[in-house]
Amino acid sequence: MSSVALADDVLTKYEPVIGLEVHVQLGTKTKIFCTCPVEFGAAPNTNVCPVCLGLPGALPVLSRQAVELAMSAAIALHCRVNSFSRFARKNYFYPDLPKGYQISQYDQPLAEHGYVDLPGPGKKRIGVTRVYMEDDAGKSLHEGFLDSDRYTYVDLNRCGTPLIEIVSDPDMRSPDEAYAYLTELKQVLQYIGVSDCDMEKGQLRCDANVSVRPRGADKFGTKAEVKNLNSFRFLKMALEHEIERQVELIESGGQVMQETRLFNVETGNTVGMRSKEHAHDYRYFPEPDLVPLRISEHWLNEVRTRLPELPAGRRERFVSQYGLREYDAQVLTSTREVGDYFEAAVRAGADPRSAANWITGDLSALLKASGKEISASPVRAEHLGQLVSLITRGDLSGKLAKELLPKMFETGEPAAAVMDREGLRQISDAGALEQIVDDVLAANPKQVEQFKNGKTAVLGFLVGQIMKASRGQANPAAVGELLKKKLG
Ligand code: ADP
Ligand code: ZN
Ligand code: MG
Repeated sequence: MSSVALADDVLTKYEPVIGLEVHVQLGTKTKIFCTCPVEFGAAPNTNVCPVCLGLPGALPVLSRQAVELAMSAAIALHCRVNSFSRFARKNYFYPDLPKGYQISQYDQPLAEHGYVDLPGPGKKRIGVTRVYMEDDAGKSLHEGFLDSDRYTYVDLNRCGTPLIEIVSDPDMRSPDEAYAYLTELKQVLQYIGVSDCDMEKGQLRCDANVSVRPRGADKFGTKAEVKNLNSFRFLKMALEHEIERQVELIESGGQVMQETRLFNVETGNTVGMRSKEHAHDYRYFPEPDLVPLRISEHWLNEVRTRLPELPAGRRERFVSQYGLREYDAQVLTSTREVGDYFEAAVRAGADPRSAANWITGDLSALLKASGKEISASPVRAEHLGQLVSLITRGDLSGKLAKELLPKMFETGEPAAAVMDREGLRQISDAGALEQIVDDVLAANPKQVEQFKNGKTAVLGFLVGQIMKASRGQANPAAVGELLKKKLG
């Protein structure tokens, strides 16, 4: 598999231009035009009815939930939601499309003119051309069935699953930017609960349009469309390969053809599939069985007010409200769950920056090792918050806390309970501490002498020895106090 990054000489002369078309399955319980359940992995051809099978005389009824999820996505992508849109038939023949057409939108889509801001210093803005609704087709199955070397099987369960297609402007200029755009898009859609965007289940699918032009040129080159990109890694690989292919073609005197190409996972190459089909090939016409979709200002506002805070806004708020570093804010808003966890820990009394460190550091390592999501963390957010505030108050050393957290993770208990059971209570008792301090000072006369001669840096060494002698259980603040008293 070739995954070489683009060579510099390719990019000094030519500039890639990329636009993505992303299909997202809406997280509704039922299909877009009938009440069949949307269910992944059901026995083939069990979730079907006359409507989604396209039997003669069956009439589609538009799902309100599907429209509201599509509206949510459009609003979150800063689109103008049209008060009037309509469905259109997109006609083509395919074995997994029993109606002989897809119900899509064409000249009057749900929403237009949005954008996605990429995170990072440049905050580059990628335009969203339009968002429209359509139904999904079924699936052809080529493997795992009797005589599948001779037959193709068809599963129509997916027919009528609600989709939105999000078309971007040709605003991206590198495979990395395309990757960042798709990442941000996925994050937004998951955040607002429009879709789980599980690429392995086909809930997020991406086609990439790419062309190259000589640097400095203002006209775009001819694009090719690459299909079948079902992971972020494949998107990047396919783009890198396709850009190189186009540049080599042009350099050797050839011309890029407008066509649809398929990414081959095995070879990492793209291969021509068919010359580009045009809108007129689909014989679009308004869907006669559905009335136009009218969206009132009132309905739009209702959906808008139900939307949670978006990741970009939350990121900024985490920086301004909690004083987090940009990077931590980004990690802590990568999912809604991790952001909620962080804020719950802060509400439980944790210093925000320390809480951020513990969540992105030790806790996240424990979660990773046990394959758990943060929403299933055995250490509850309040317990983490308490742990962090114990440290901040000086009731617990950072070192002890590092030993405590895995035990809290194992048992689900709060810090105090684990400390009591394991005898990890911090030694704050003045008498016991004083004994340890005296012993350490007596054992290190040279360092004591140096300190008295003004070499204050040895204080750190002495504190370290005391912590060690107490097996990490001494209260660092109390140790500091005692030393100050003893050394003058
Ligand atoms: P078509 O009519 O061929 O479907 P569209 O104008 O609808 O083309 O664009 C489809 C996608 O291709 C969009 O995401 C758009 O940003 C992208 N695109 C359009 N022109 C180019 C180009 N010259 N190079 C790269 N991407 C492009
Ligand atoms: Zn149905
Ligand atoms: Mg198009």
